[in-house]
Amino acid sequence: MNYYRYFHVVNEDALFLTKKACKEHIEKYGYNYKQPHTYVMTACQCPEYEKLLEVIKNTDWSVEKMSKYMELPWSHRRTIENLKEIKEHMQEKVIIQNLHGRGKKDAEEVEFDFDRAINALEKQIPKKPIERNYEEPGEKPYIKHTCPAGCKITLHGVEYGQKYCQKCGQRLDWSEE
Ligand SMILES: [Zn+2]
Repeated sequence: MNYYRYFHVVNEDALFLTKKACKEHIEKYGYNYKQPHTYVMTACQCPEYEKLLEVIKNTDWSVEKMSKYMELPWSHRRTIENLKEIKEHMQEKVIIQNLHGRGKKDAEEVEFDFDRAINALEKQIPKKPIERNYEEPGEKPYIKHTCPAGCKITLHGVEYGQKYCQKCGQRLDWSEE
């Protein structure tokens, strides 16, 4: 006679507010788990959860209101630093968990996703264009500007109101100091 024992493991990193959201997650990422299924945790009389719901309900989520807050505590720099920390933390975690022997591969995927977000944010930090002076015999000296992120193209220039590199999207800082 065979005895099969099933251990139900609560996945602490997966929290969803609705069963629908949980099911969607399982459909998409279910391969990461062994026989995944939904479960319910009640948040009744949990002061922290009640407070969170209260905050969600009473916050003005309109773009104008939010963007006012976005500027101050969450600078691009800080956000990038935080993303880097979270990335490292997650990589350590997936390597230790090594689900289905995919630990290393999962860590690479975490790296890819986070680096993409980090790069996009870094491009939002204005950088000064690289200035090159040209002087050719018989011609008036002139200046060309190229992308600070290293694209091999000539920028149209500040007089055309160019705010971003036309190739990579790097935000430009034309101010003179
Ligand atoms: Zn560029």
